[in-house]
Amino acid sequence: QAKPDGRGTYVEYEPGMDTHLQAKQQIKVLLRQALANNALEVHYQPLVNLHTGRLTTCEALVRWPQPGRGQISPAEFIPVAEEADLIGPLGEWVLRQACTEAAKWPLDISVAVNLSPVQFDRRLAATVCDILKETGLNASRLELEITESVLLDECDRNFQILKEIRQLGVKVAIDDFGTGYSSLSYLRSFRFDKIKIDRSFVSDLPAGKESLAILRAVAGIGRTLGITTTVEGVEAPDQLEIIKAEGFDEAQGYLFSRPLPAAQLLKLMQSWGDKSSP
Ligand code: C2E
Ligand code: MG
Ligand code: MG
Ligand code: MG
Repeated sequence: QAKPDGRGTYVEYEPGMDTHLQAKQQIKVLLRQALANNALEVHYQPLVNLHTGRLTTCEALVRWPQPGRGQISPAEFIPVAEEADLIGPLGEWVLRQACTEAAKWPLDISVAVNLSPVQFDRRLAATVCDILKETGLNASRLELEITESVLLDECDRNFQILKEIRQLGVKVAIDDFGTGYSSLSYLRSFRFDKIKIDRSFVSDLPAGKESLAILRAVAGIGRTLGITTTVEGVEAPDQLEIIKAEGFDEAQGYLFSRPLPAAQLLKLMQSWGDKSSP
């Protein structure tokens, strides 16, 4: 077992660590190449308005195709990109790609893009503004999803950056809500446009009494404060019935659609029509 020697360095050798570091090092190299070769893709997953049944927003999710091998999840390679100083260019690429794509969609459909805390710098709002101009997408059709880790470090500076982003007319959503340490206090410090409650609160429905109690409370907060409430990870019809009954505004999940390549999403949009349920 490796232990710190008291000066913050590791003295004992751990064989597993070596291969782990090597694997990560390799991902860094390959990811840098993929970015340079334009080999990444963006898929889009619909968010559905539960009052009208209409498709309101599509979330952009980055994909790294691995020819001949299994997928690498963004949950795995985004942290590596953050560590390797690649998240700046990667995030900007996803944003540009997503805005370009969304400019082709019906005017009442928005695009949501995830932002990493590591992307927060003084130029962020200016970059967002430039990309909107360049792609011709109206600011009101862009939503940026952040997690509460953005508000943990450099809290004042990041609140300021979020305000600048909102002044552009871009919407800000808090993602994976309920999984952090003090999510509730952030609702007091910043006016979010949308709360996306984490899918862990849905996955044990209909049985999970605790999850249901938390969902009910969050729906109530959203209603009182006038914030759109979205539930992610809805997979089953009985889960959908519950969150509808609790008064949530939106849902996202495999029940409606998996994330799709841009061309397939366009087809889905055409066939969606006025359907009120999947
Ligand atoms: P997220 O932003 O919370 O995105 C939702 C994740 O839940 C996506 O996983 C989506 O495919 C998955 N999902 C949606 N509906 C269901 C469902 O019904 N059941 C289950 N089991 N899963 C569902 P994905 O695409 O693997 O992305 C994982 C995470 O990676 C994202 O979580 C986000 O934090 C991050 N990520 C993805 N793309 C980007 C990006 O372009 N930039 C940044 N910074 N992060 C990204
Ligand atoms: Mg998200
Ligand atoms: Mg999420
Ligand atoms: Mg999530």
